[in-house]
Amino acid sequence: MNVENLVIIGSGCAGLTAAIYAARADLAPLIIEGQQPGGQLIQTTNIENFPGFPDGVNGFDLVSNMRTQTEKFGARFRSGVVESIDLKKKIIDCEGDRIESRAIIIATGAVPRRLNIPGEEKFWGGKGVSTCATCDGAFYRNKVVAVIGGGDSACEEAHFLTRFCLKVYLIHRRNQLRASKIMADRVLSNPRIEVLWNTILLEICGKEKVTHLYLKTQDNEYDLSFDGVFLAIGHMPNTKVFENQVECDSEGYILANGITTGIPGVFVAGDCCDRHYRQAITAAGMGAAAAIAAERYLS
Ligand SMILES: Cc1cc2nc3c(=O)[nH]c(=O)nc-3n(C[C@H](O)[C@H](O)[C@H](O)COP(=O)(O)OP(=O)(O)OC[C@H]3O[C@@H](n4cnc5c(N)ncnc54)[C@H](O)[C@@H]3O)c2cc1C
Repeated sequence: MNVENLVIIGSGCAGLTAAIYAARADLAPLIIEGQQPGGQLIQTTNIENFPGFPDGVNGFDLVSNMRTQTEKFGARFRSGVVESIDLKKKIIDCEGDRIESRAIIIATGAVPRRLNIPGEEKFWGGKGVSTCATCDGAFYRNKVVAVIGGGDSACEEAHFLTRFCLKVYLIHRRNQLRASKIMADRVLSNPRIEVLWNTILLEICGKEKVTHLYLKTQDNEYDLSFDGVFLAIGHMPNTKVFENQVECDSEGYILANGITTGIPGVFVAGDCCDRHYRQAITAAGMGAAAAIAAERYLS
């Protein structure tokens, strides 16, 4: 079996940045693209917070440019999903092929949880449905938005959005927030946030962009006008294939010390191990660090 120097699992901005660094270090890395080549960023039209693009950049263009940059230095791509892996032996099974490597970078990202309701897909990524207030909050200056959820993330997103928005509705299906007391108090005492208790979002409505939400309470169904809706119902890290091989937290995020997993030669980067920031630039930064660590390990 041909042994690779470095296999990078995932082709989002963590994996692609790792590939740029590794390819420039002459490692000729092999990137396994996964089910979503380019990662989450291909779902969004305008990214305003990636450094170097004062007018913003289209998500697809950003990852396409990253990919071109990796190929310029000799990175290679393989389509397919890693189905099973032995991290200690560094043997990877990918859709009929068995690949052995000296080092591995795991950069499999995470998926925002969805409600799977009408309108969600239609307005996803730039048309009024968002999963990230840090990314998209500034697009809603002086607008009215809804945040769906009742945990710490939902409270944090709602609170953050009051910097820009005229009004933020926190829509929660229960009569009590799940969030920690400090986060809940912050929301409940903020005059720009109104909580709609015991309320379920049934449909996201509009023509080109979101204009209103169709909501349901115990005894009523009604429309309310909104300019946008932020889903804050959690993320699922794509780490199932690494279960029992590397330590994960209760939600499946890989527990790492920075980019180090505890298994020699196995590094990790991006949203699959980062429950706090989940940004393109933080994922890219971890990808760079993981590639430098892999290069040092190999030499
Ligand atoms: C709609 C939307 C808008 C966003 N807007 C912004 C923004 O404006 N600014 C910002 O900074 N961030 C934004 N983000 C967040 C940003 O996209 C993520 O933080 C970033 O993409 C994380 O990069 P990553 O490489 O860690 O993971 P991902 O981008 O999730 O990439 C993971 C990669 O791993 C692959 N993969 C998964 N499982 C396997 C497997 N078993 N085998 C092989 N490959 C696998 C996938 O195919 C994918 O290529 C947005 C996210 C979304 C969803």
